[in-house]
Amino acid sequence: MAKIRLLDSLLSSRIAAGEVIERPQSVLRELLDNAFDASCSSIEVHIDGGGVEKISVKDNGCGIPLDGLNLIGKRHATSKISKLSDLYDISTLGFRGEALYSISAVSKLSIATRSKENGEASTLVIDNGQREDIISYGPDEGTIITVEDLFSQIPARRAFLKREQTEEKVCRSLFVAKALAFPNISLKYYANSALKLDWPSVHSLKERAMYHLRQFGITDGDVQILEQKEEDFSITIVACSSAFKRSDRREMRIYVNNRPVDDYPLLQAVSYGYGELLPGGFYPYAIVFINNKSELVDFNIHPAKKEVKLRNAADIHHAISSLLKSVNRVIPEVKVNKQFYLDDVERWSNGKKTDSFVERKSTKSEEETPHQTISEYKEQYKEENRAWLEKAKELKRIREEREQKEVKREEKSQSIRYIGQAFNLFLICQKDNDLYLVDQHAAHERILYDELVKKHDIQMLALPIVLDVDTLTDEFLSKYSHIYTNLGIMISREDNGSWQIDGIPAVARGIEDKIISFILSARADEEELDRELFAILACKAAIKRGDEIDSYSALALLEKVFALPTPACPHGRTFLVKISESELLKMVGRT
Ligand code: ADP
Ligand code: MG
Repeated sequence: MAKIRLLDSLLSSRIAAGEVIERPQSVLRELLDNAFDASCSSIEVHIDGGGVEKISVKDNGCGIPLDGLNLIGKRHATSKISKLSDLYDISTLGFRGEALYSISAVSKLSIATRSKENGEASTLVIDNGQREDIISYGPDEGTIITVEDLFSQIPARRAFLKREQTEEKVCRSLFVAKALAFPNISLKYYANSALKLDWPSVHSLKERAMYHLRQFGITDGDVQILEQKEEDFSITIVACSSAFKRSDRREMRIYVNNRPVDDYPLLQAVSYGYGELLPGGFYPYAIVFINNKSELVDFNIHPAKKEVKLRNAADIHHAISSLLKSVNRVIPEVKVNKQFYLDDVERWSNGKKTDSFVERKSTKSEEETPHQTISEYKEQYKEENRAWLEKAKELKRIREEREQKEVKREEKSQSIRYIGQAFNLFLICQKDNDLYLVDQHAAHERILYDELVKKHDIQMLALPIVLDVDTLTDEFLSKYSHIYTNLGIMISREDNGSWQIDGIPAVARGIEDKIISFILSARADEEELDRELFAILACKAAIKRGDEIDSYSALALLEKVFALPTPACPHGRTFLVKISESELLKMVGRT
């Protein structure tokens, strides 16, 4: 191996630039951040030749005094922090003092500025690391930063760039993402001298968002503003109606302290909030602005600051999904014909009083009993360790159960006449004077849920699974482990601070890895955790859409469904449609 030596400063600055500046978009991001930090009220962006040829950002902010300009181009030259403790209390977008240093190493950077403080005007040029003398000339106010010929001296980097149009598009979408968070700054965006976006200063996040949302056909009336203020944080959500949906997450946007972030758990909180309003695989148009106390936020994880750590993540998640849930929900209606209707939960329970169904203890009332301790749970598990039947066995058991029971049951099942299955999903049956279509998958999930909660069968692990968790996960588990134990995952905290899983529901055998990654990554409120975890557990066991089901098993399942206190999944979605005989008669003109 060659001798160890120190790299020269241009080489080391280019290595550093590799982390911060990937493409024209990264330059624009840094220049816009600097303009926002300079407390300006207007910004103008020019992108020429996809930003490779030229990017310039002009603001009317505070400007840079000469002594500051002298330091630009040196690593860690910043006016935004000065001591270690500042790093944990950051209110600006920049703080690492790396952007201009990096940009000046890989392009021709010019800064023309006038300091508001002392009126000095100066212009500095650094051409690929070569610093030129500062001249005393500059704009009337603010700062114009121009970056030309990006990566002209680093062909390997330039080769990775996409077509000019693509790079320009990527710059524009960054501009939009940034602009949404600063409604009171007027912003203009030009590409190859043509004005593409002209967003004036407005008074609210919604007004600004509308400039962006209208292109999707979304109008003022389709958008609600949801707000919550807590001691440590506040949240504003620009939430569009679920009538507007898309198959990608691109229009679900999360901002933490005005900075757009990629944070999957926060996006999940938005999805949870919309919940059943959107069909599977679709995502809403929603913009979430979180303002969190700066000491509870850490952006210093990634040089491009796309990632964020929140000390109060669980509270914020909870707030986002509950805010979105607070929006009026309507049970989706079957719109084929007015006479078709979805039975809602209330109507069901009213009707039930006249029915001869067996009342069952609801899941909810069981949840109200105090949570068991792990040791009580272990005891109980020993007694209750009856074999949990997997999918096929489960169906067999309900069938056998049915056969064993006598006259009363016979009478009851006679009241349900199973007709058949439609679309590989709906069980069709007639009961009294109504016809029902039951989503077999959702219905079976509901039945399984009740049984999981009753802890029918826990499989003790020969070797416990030990999880070493970070402090955030530790705090989270300490708060929510009862949800896992409630569904039969025997998880407990050991004395050394690690978490241990001693047993899992037998039905979850073989998907331990899924459970573990869920435990390590989930951040949501109680109900959502419960829902998600259950979905993982029941997914393997439940009858799926497309599964064929014999008439005995279908009838057995339907009986269980009609014995439920409410015909809805544990988290509220109904899974059945009722059409009454009289409605049908009306439809064919017989009254
Ligand atoms: P950082 O933003 O992390 O401090 P930069 O390299 O982006 O690092 O910028 C270095 C310094 O240059 C900033 O701290 C700021 O003082 C100054 N600066 C850069 N751009 C502007 C601007 N548009 N207006 C005023 N000052 C600026
Ligand atoms: Mg900066």
